[in-house]
Amino acid sequence: MLQSIAQNQTCGVKEMNAERLKRFQGCLVGVATGDALGAPVEGGSREQIRRIYGVLREMVDGYRPAGNITDDTMQTLCLAESIAELGEFNPDDAVRRLLEWYRTDPFGIGSHTLQVMMRVDRGMDWRKAVDEVERTNAPWTAGNGSLMRCSPIALRYCRDIVKLIECSRESSLLTHANRLCQDACAFFNAVLSRVLLGWDKKDAISFAMEILAHASHEILDRVQDMLHKSADEIPTSGFVLDTLECALWAWWHFDNFEEAIVTVVNLGGDTDTNAAVAGALMGAQCGLDAIPQRWREKIRWRDDKTIIDKCIALATRLCELAEKD
Ligand SMILES: [Mg+2]
Repeated sequence: MLQSIAQNQTCGVKEMNAERLKRFQGCLVGVATGDALGAPVEGGSREQIRRIYGVLREMVDGYRPAGNITDDTMQTLCLAESIAELGEFNPDDAVRRLLEWYRTDPFGIGSHTLQVMMRVDRGMDWRKAVDEVERTNAPWTAGNGSLMRCSPIALRYCRDIVKLIECSRESSLLTHANRLCQDACAFFNAVLSRVLLGWDKKDAISFAMEILAHASHEILDRVQDMLHKSADEIPTSGFVLDTLECALWAWWHFDNFEEAIVTVVNLGGDTDTNAAVAGALMGAQCGLDAIPQRWREKIRWRDDKTIIDKCIALATRLCELAEKD
């Protein structure tokens, strides 16, 4: 059924491949810059951020020096590297890379993902680990930890909607089995995939609503709601539906990458993740060149200042793979 819906959609815009490539690159660079801008004020309220920074629109020092990325970008890169090397999404390989990352310095790791990775690190099969953590923590298992890293799936499978939905859900299952998390990843990537292909916003949202018509009604309600909300009404917690709504809201209401990301960060709450997710969508919408150079040149992970180069190279590879479908 999904296939026939996809084939019947005719509103994809033909554009030069060079423009499309910029969208792919903008997506991953958007994750990194949103993550790094938001990281220093993670957990702060709107009022606290306003009191300290006025409007925060520059990379500033936090727990780490300015420009450092966190778990959001690192996990996104794990997935992107896995797909780039294997050509397809492979859950076992993706978990192996998440585990490698976990064993280095998993800065900013969320408690749910931490609990899964601790078990996997001790030798437990990852599926069993995810099941166990889901059962132990239910119903408080719908964090944004899988949504924040799911964008590489949209890059790889933007031309294959069946695989896109299936692999988006599966990419959530690597740590977050909660149905809301799976649906949120699928919905987000359905929208993101259309943006990567150059569709306009209204068509992209309609497409996702149609494809995910059977998804949790909470998701569809949130999407309807965000269309008409003001900034003050946008939730910013680490609950997956809040992050999904916040990111979609920013993308829907802004056409400028910097303004969208600055707005999201200054709303407070789970600022790095909300801005990383919004950054994926806005980067795809606006393209790489719209992402401020002064932000890009600050991005780093400890001494490694090649993160942006990695994002661009991986996005390029995923674009090549997607074009072959
Ligand atoms: Mg983080």
